[in-house]
Order: sequence, then structure tokens, then C-alpha cells
Amino acid sequence: MTRTDPQPAAEQPAGPQTMAHTDASGDDPEVRGPVVIVGGGFGGLYTALALSQQRRHPPLLLIEPQDCFLFLPLLYELLSGELRRWEIAPRYDALLAGRGVAWLQDRVVEIDAARRCLHTTGGRQLDFGQLVLATGSRMHSFGIPGVVEHGLGFRSLADVERLQTVVRQLRQRRRPLQRLAVVGAGPSGVELSCKLADLLEGAAVVELIEQGPAALPQARAFNREQALLALQRRDVRLRCGCRVREVGADHLDLDTASGPERLVVEAVVWTAGLDFAPPAIRPEPARDSRGRLLVDPQLRLQGHTHLFALGDIAAVGGDHGGAESSPPLPATAQVAFQQATCLADNLLRARCDEPLEPFRFQDLGEMISLGKGEASLVGGGFTLAGPAAFQLRRLAYLSRLPGRSHQLRVAAGWLADWQP
Ligand SMILES: Cc1cc2nc3c(=O)[nH]c(=O)nc-3n(C[C@H](O)[C@H](O)[C@H](O)COP(=O)(O)OP(=O)(O)OC[C@H]3O[C@@H](n4cnc5c(N)ncnc54)[C@H](O)[C@@H]3O)c2cc1C
Repeated sequence: MTRTDPQPAAEQPAGPQTMAHTDASGDDPEVRGPVVIVGGGFGGLYTALALSQQRRHPPLLLIEPQDCFLFLPLLYELLSGELRRWEIAPRYDALLAGRGVAWLQDRVVEIDAARRCLHTTGGRQLDFGQLVLATGSRMHSFGIPGVVEHGLGFRSLADVERLQTVVRQLRQRRRPLQRLAVVGAGPSGVELSCKLADLLEGAAVVELIEQGPAALPQARAFNREQALLALQRRDVRLRCGCRVREVGADHLDLDTASGPERLVVEAVVWTAGLDFAPPAIRPEPARDSRGRLLVDPQLRLQGHTHLFALGDIAAVGGDHGGAESSPPLPATAQVAFQQATCLADNLLRARCDEPLEPFRFQDLGEMISLGKGEASLVGGGFTLAGPAAFQLRRLAYLSRLPGRSHQLRVAAGWLADWQP
């Protein structure tokens, strides 16, 4: 079976609810009907793009409530103004134009696996041949009082705008002892704290609160060392072993090793933990203890022939890395991106009643942003930190942006801005 078409389809406008496709001949009659992809993030959009490159692909429908794809690893650079909104948040109608992928701007609320149909908040009922779940993750409050009411998130364009307003206000007011708290010293909390400290230029102290004994416990040793140095250089106050008990409008209540403490803060950014909320599925699929959907190594939902899942929402069982007992895969864009290629292939295999391939994760390394114009990276047997790592990280992500024409537009913009 030939699965690659090097010639891109002729460019045509693609808007919500348009369907223009080539159906695959030789489909198992059991799985005729469109491939419906729920969620247009790293897992969903890249699966749609990979399928759209096949010469004879089935009808494809992407259901996604937002109008722009968001390249989350570069959200820090949008906050700092180092990148522009259109570069990291291209519109779905532009990305999918002429690719034979229909986009429906809606949210899926319920899936009936037996009848192979789904329902949306817009009141639509749609049938599918195969369904891909790629609804990602969201902020987890752990039920701590005040997090939802007073905590700022950092995973959407609206979050970036809110945080830019906070930074502007803190810089204008310049009151003594202004504090901004970031909760969670994982990659997001550390990267965000460095950018915020650079943007604030001393107008407020950044407090980085971590419940565990250390920042970046899962990171590579080199990146962790570089991150700690970057935090120190910016006077970010890293407080480990502090559990947040409550978030108020102007304070954080903490349990620390020396007892309870109230920290007066201007704002709290919450980056601790992920929560998973896929649409309701009947019959109820198996989930892991964190609420993620259990999928087999071929990315098929356990016990569901026509339902697949990838990205943050999927907990892959069995061996997925070539090792005897592979550790759980991290919730990263790198994993979702690689799964998309495997899943696109498996969807086509399933339609032809061919055996499916297991997903094998290839660890390509780790990059973290550490303030304006700085980064640290480990990969391919080498390590690098500072401005050169920042440029390399940008280039690496350029090659991961969705769609060749968007990559070229962004590259052209960077060249135009370049001052030797
Ligand atoms: C600030 C930040 C920085 C990050 N940096 C990195 C990094 O440097 N490197 C890295 O590898 N990873 C990074 N990650 C993690 C990475 O972005 C995620 O692992 C990745 O986005 C997961 O892809 P996904 O497709 O599962 O989910 P997402 O990309 O989150 O996409 C899910 C999509 O589903 C849609 N959706 C949700 N519910 C529904 C529904 N009911 N119906 C229809 N659509 C729905 C959402 O609108 C969303 O567009 C970062 C994450 C954040 C928040």
C-alpha cells in the first residue's frame, strides 16, 4: 500500500463544516465512514496532517472549539514579545486549506461507541467510521480552595494576555515588596518564572513555590543545573517543600517545614499538575488512576475497535520504547507529535484489515527556555546553554510548526527581522 503523496493537494479554502475527500478503496466495510478527530492540538492536528498527505485518504473531520492551533512550547516567547501571535497560533482554516480536512468549530460532549456517533455542544449528531480522541489536558486545582477563582493559568492566548496585563501593572505601580507567585517548579513553572523575572526587571519578586524537595525532578541533570543558575541570576525565590493550602485574592496560604505561612502576593500563576477530562464515552472505557484513557501499544482504546487516543489524554500500556518494562510516557508535545505519525498509519491499516504497528517512542532530547534570549538543551549526545541554545531551540521548533507553508512564512519573518 502506497501511503505517501509527495505532491501536496491543490490549495483550496477550507472552512468549518466543508467535506471534500477521496475515499480509500478496499476499505473494510466495517470501518467505512469518516475519520473524526476530536481535538486539534499536537496529537489531533498532526494526525490530520499526516493522514491528509496520503494519496487515498478517507474523509477527515477535525472537531476543535478554538479557531487557532497553539504551539504551546513557544508560549513563553509570546508572553515576552520575542515571537508574534500569528507565528505560534496559526488559524485552522489557513492550516487546513486545500488539504481535504474538514474543520468543525465545536466541542464534543458525548460519544456512543456502539452506534459510532457523537454529539457536540452545538447540538450536532455526527457518525464516524473511526474516532481519534486527542483532547489533551487542563490545569489541575487538586481541589485546593481558591485556585480556580484566583489562580491564573498559562496554556491559552487569553492566559498570556492576562499575564501581560499583570506584568504591565506591576511595572507601572512599582510599589515596594511587590510579589508574583508561580506554583509548581516543573518545566512550565521554571520557564515561566525566568521569563517573568526578565519582563518585570525588578518591579516585583518572583516566588516559585514547589511542594516537592527540588525543582525539575524529571529533567536532565545539565538542564536542571542550568535552570537553577538561571533562577539564581534572576533572583527568583525558589521555595521547595511548601504545600499550598489556599489561594486568596491577594495571598497564598502555605504549609512549610517551619509551619503555616501567609505570603502576600499580587497574583498567582498555577502550573502545578494536569487534569484530564475527555468527552463522555459509552460504554465507559478503562482509565488509569489519573483519569487518562488506557490505550494498547497500537494506540487503540482498550475494548474499543474503532476508537483511538493519543497525546496527553492517552495512557499507553505495554512496551512502547523497546525496553522490557518502559516507564510511563511523559505528557509532552514530543510524544504526541510522534504518536500522530504512528496513529495515522494505524488508522489506514485498520481500514484495510491489516495488522497495526505498536508505537515506539524515540527520545529526541530536552529543551527548556530560560529567560529572554536564553535556553538550555540536551540531545543527540551534546549539551548547550545560553543564547546559542535559544537560537537552536527556535530553529528546532520552526521545523515542528504545522504545515510547510506556515513554516516558510515564519522563517521569512525571522529573516526579515534578522540584524547581523
Ligand atoms: C505552557 C506549556 C509549555 C509546554 N512546553 C512543552 C515543551 O517545551 N515541550 C514539549 O514536548 N511539551 C510541552 N508542553 C506540553 C505539550 O504542549 C502537550 O503535551 C501537548 O500539547 C499535548 O498534545 P495533545 O494533543 O494531547 O493536547 P493539546 O495540544 O492540549 O490539544 C488538545 C486540544 O483538544 C481540544 N479539546 C479539548 N476538549 C475538546 C472536546 N471535548 N472537543 C473538541 N476539542 C477539544 C482543545 O481545545 C485543544 O486544542 C507544554 C505545555 C504547556 C501548557
